[in-house]
Amino acid sequence: MIGMLKSMATTMKHALDGEKFTVQYPEETPEVSPRFRGVHKFSQERCIWCRQCENVCPNDTIQIVTDDMRNGEQYNLHIGQCIYCRLCEEVCPVDAILLTQNFEFTGDTKDDLAYNKEQLKNVPWYKDIDPLASREPDREAWVGEGDGEVDYQ
Ligand code: SF4
Ligand code: SF4
Repeated sequence: MIGMLKSMATTMKHALDGEKFTVQYPEETPEVSPRFRGVHKFSQERCIWCRQCENVCPNDTIQIVTDDMRNGEQYNLHIGQCIYCRLCEEVCPVDAILLTQNFEFTGDTKDDLAYNKEQLKNVPWYKDIDPLASREPDREAWVGEGDGEVDYQ
């Protein structure tokens, strides 16, 4: 009983002090953590079609199609089944795939949530947040060849 009264008192305290934890989305866009994991952005210019992202994905979210000469033809990502583990980004040796902070995507069917390489290329940054900058501390160990200017357009 005492515990219940304490929790009610805490609730009332926060309700009366005017501090807000929610926003009126979509009129007001929320702040997200710099480390938030949203929809991916893909750079065909950087990709070397090594398929490591496809192999490491625990959820079969990424499908890559190459020709007989191993040249990349298709890069498809079924965002509806992604668990946002970020393993694909971590394994990529050239920073060709990157999780943005963008969570603003919808679809009426599962097919609407299957993005091809053109759609992934055009995923907008969320509020101009640079995911590379925010992840600098834990990217240093593996970023290697991906260092330098990043062009996802
Ligand atoms: S974030 Fe994880 S689940 Fe999503 S595509 Fe990358 S490896 Fe697959
Ligand atoms: S790991 Fe990177 S370079 Fe390799 S296929 Fe995936 S996105 Fe392309």
